[in-house]
Amino acid sequence: MKLHEYQGKELFKRVGIPINEGRVVTSPEEAEEAARALGCPVVVKAQVLVGGRGKAGGVRLASTPEEARAYALAILGMNIKGEPVKRVLVAKAEEIAREYYLGITLDRAKRLPVMIFSPSGGMEIEEVARIDPGAIFRFHIHPLEGPHPYQIRNLLLKAGIDRGLQGELASIFSKLYQAFTQYQASLVEINPLALTPAGSFVALDAKFIIDDDALPRLGELASWRDADSESPQERAAREAGLNYVKLDGNIGIIGNGAGLVMATLDLVAALGGRPANFLDIGGGARASQIEKALEIVLSDPQVKGIFLNIFGGITRCDEVARGLVEAWKKLQAQAKLPLVVRLTGTNEEEGRAILLEQGIAPVATMEEGARRIVELVH
Ligand code: GDP
Ligand code: MN
Repeated sequence: MKLHEYQGKELFKRVGIPINEGRVVTSPEEAEEAARALGCPVVVKAQVLVGGRGKAGGVRLASTPEEARAYALAILGMNIKGEPVKRVLVAKAEEIAREYYLGITLDRAKRLPVMIFSPSGGMEIEEVARIDPGAIFRFHIHPLEGPHPYQIRNLLLKAGIDRGLQGELASIFSKLYQAFTQYQASLVEINPLALTPAGSFVALDAKFIIDDDALPRLGELASWRDADSESPQERAAREAGLNYVKLDGNIGIIGNGAGLVMATLDLVAALGGRPANFLDIGGGARASQIEKALEIVLSDPQVKGIFLNIFGGITRCDEVARGLVEAWKKLQAQAKLPLVVRLTGTNEEEGRAILLEQGIAPVATMEEGARRIVELVH
C-alpha cells in the first residue's frame, strides 16, 4: 500500500524525523485558511500517489493566503499522470540551502534492506543513477542488528558531508530505519531531505510503501488506504481474497497458484498474445471464487477473451467447472467473449462432463489453450 505524502510525514513525525507542519484540505477556501493559520510562505502540494508532482506543476510556493487559495484551485483541478487531484497539502515552506536524498528499500538480490543516500537530492533517484551514479552512496543493513553507527559514519564520510552536519543526519538515518521496520515498509524515501540555511534538516517529502501482508498487524494504518488509487478490479479482487494484478493487454488470464498463472502469462506472451491481467484464485478455490474471478476479469473493458488454466490438486476440477458454468450463464449474456478452458488433475473427468453438458469443450493442454486464445483474440 502506497501512502500519500501527508500520511508518510505523519509516520516520520511519530519516529521523530523533523517535517514541515501542514494541513490536508480539499477546497481552495480551506487552503487559504490553512495558509493563514500556518503562516506564509507555504507550499501547496497535490496529494497523489505518483512521483514527479513538482515537474507536473503540482507543487507551488505561495507567499500569501490568497495566493495559496489560487494555487489550490489550480492544483485541485489537475490530473497528474492519470490521477485526479482530490486533496492538497498546505505546509509551511522551508528555505532550502541544499537538497539531499535518503531512502531505504529491499535489495532482493542480496536479501537485505539497503540504505541509500545522495547529496544530489531533489530530482528522482533513478535520474541521479543515470546521470551521476557516483553521487549515490549505500550500505546493506543486517536485519537483526539494524544499521551500525560506523556504517552511517563511513557513508557520510565518503559522501563528503561536513562534520558539523553528520550527527543530525546520522540520527535521521536511524529514525528512518525505525520507521521502515516499525511500519513494515518495502520502501521509504525522503526526497528532498532539505538542509535549511540555519543548518538543520527537514523532510520536505515522504514516500512510503507498506507491505500489504503486514497491514493486519498495523492497526489503524489499514484504514489509511486511498480507495481511489485502486482500479475497481483491484479492489474487488482484494475484497474477495484473490490475487489480481492489472496488465495492459487484452487476454484475461485466470489460474490457480501464482507459479501456474505466471507460466501461463509467459506462454501466452511468447505466442504473441498480450495478457490483460494476472489472477490467481489460490488453492482449493470454491465455485463462488471462480464466479467472482470471472466477474472481475470481465469487468475490465480491455478484455477480449479469457483463458482459464486450472491444475487440480487441492482445487477440484468439478468444483471449478460448477462455478464456471454458473458464472458463464450469468455473464456471457453481457459479454460475448471467447473462453478457453484447460482443466486437469483432481476430479478432471467430472469437471469435463459438467462443462461439455453446457457446450464448453476444454482443451487438452496448456500449450493448446494458450495457442487457441491467442488465435481467438486478435
Ligand atoms: P515531487 O516532485 O513529487 O517529488 O514533490 P516534492 O515534495 O519533492 O517537491 C518538489 C520540489 O519542490 C522539491 O524538490 C523542492 O525543490 C520544492 N519544495 C517542496 N517543498 C518545499 C519547501 O517547503 N520550500 C521550498 N523552497 N521548496 C520546496
Ligand atoms: Mn519528492
